[in-house]
Amino acid sequence: MSNMEARTSKVAIVRCDSYEREKVSGAVREAVELLGGIDSILGEAAAVQSMGKDAEIVLKLNMLGRHAPEKAVTTHPEVFRAVGELLQENGYGNLVYGDSPGSPVSNMEKTAEGCGLKAVADELGIKPGDFDRGTDVDYPEGKVARRFVLCNEIAKATGAGGKEPAGLIINICKMKTHQLERITGAVKNTFGCVCGVNKAMTHATYQSPEHFARMLADLNTLVRPALHIMDGIVAMDGNGPASGDPFPMNAILVSTDPVALDAMFCKLIYLDPQMVATNTACADAGVGTWDDEKIEILLGGVPMQKEGAVITTDELEVKYADKNFNVQRSREFRGSMSLMGFVRRFANKKPVVIANKCVGCGVCEQTCPLEDKAVIVRQDSTGRAVAQYDHSKCIKCYCCQEMCPERAITVKKSLLAKIVDRRWKV
Ligand code: SF4
Ligand code: SF4
Repeated sequence: MSNMEARTSKVAIVRCDSYEREKVSGAVREAVELLGGIDSILGEAAAVQSMGKDAEIVLKLNMLGRHAPEKAVTTHPEVFRAVGELLQENGYGNLVYGDSPGSPVSNMEKTAEGCGLKAVADELGIKPGDFDRGTDVDYPEGKVARRFVLCNEIAKATGAGGKEPAGLIINICKMKTHQLERITGAVKNTFGCVCGVNKAMTHATYQSPEHFARMLADLNTLVRPALHIMDGIVAMDGNGPASGDPFPMNAILVSTDPVALDAMFCKLIYLDPQMVATNTACADAGVGTWDDEKIEILLGGVPMQKEGAVITTDELEVKYADKNFNVQRSREFRGSMSLMGFVRRFANKKPVVIANKCVGCGVCEQTCPLEDKAVIVRQDSTGRAVAQYDHSKCIKCYCCQEMCPERAITVKKSLLAKIVDRRWKV
């Protein structure tokens, strides 16, 4: 499209090749400037319009579990620091941080400590938000999800449940693969606004990738973060979102549109944005757009280009995308009718235990959202406790794989799925 005025969303992508403090700080600042500056972005939020810079800003991080920053599971502390300092320098002093961790029995602050995020928060004087207790919120406007149990801090900030919003959310997510939704980025990171064990129950209710994505679309229309910042300096590919491999993608992405941001993440890894159910469900719900004809890309962190910062998605792919990023590019087949059933057998995937890595801790069993558990720790023939699956019960939500502390659960792909995923572009 040549008419740039018809574009509806902007995504700033700033190249950044390390977590060196100065570099990260410079990249975050440049990206925010490319979008018009922090005051202009946050000035759109109702809470800033009514309370000015005293409005509470909730920095919603990715704190899936207690993982060291170099594992690339959680938001890197230097990205958190860069955002916190930028806000404080611009007069936004009422900052809190948090996330509801993946395990239903985790404590938010202990998890933050394990990810290196608490140390930054303490240094900058950013308070921990109340993410361990929830508020029941009715949401009659939801298309599929009309009730959520939101973390108290999120309910307070957004005014969800009919109160005046006391603040706004900045969503600081991580660029990773995800076994249910292919990727986890800006849209999926909002799932940590749902409190504790309710996340597992939500998985049990919305089982397919499409149904789960439609629930996420409702959640995003409810909590609507004012800004999304993605840590893609070292991303995670393969067996994400917790057991994959760190993969340098060398970028910070920033947008007010979470779908556009995730779509550009897709472009950087040669994944068609339309193959990600969260993109299409959120576009249908009016959360944003995945259509690159409607997205303006503003590139920073590179020597000044002749034409300025604006580039096309084709240029983005040619210059910066990485075809070696290991992500599920095959289609999932569903249905049990003859031909589909046959294809399904040969093109699908399931969680499996790597027996020699399993220590029998039982986290997978606790995490499985089904009442009649699809994974149970039992003694094997040698008397050793090891997790065992009943795949006929499994709904393939991959919560067990996300939460296994030993990286002992992997996703077994059929031959056909492997062949398709090996192709770099579908
Ligand atoms: S598979 Fe992982 S979570 Fe499950 S029992 Fe083994 S080590 Fe623990
Ligand atoms: S066994 Fe794992 S993937 Fe299957 S339903 Fe339970 S948590 Fe989900």
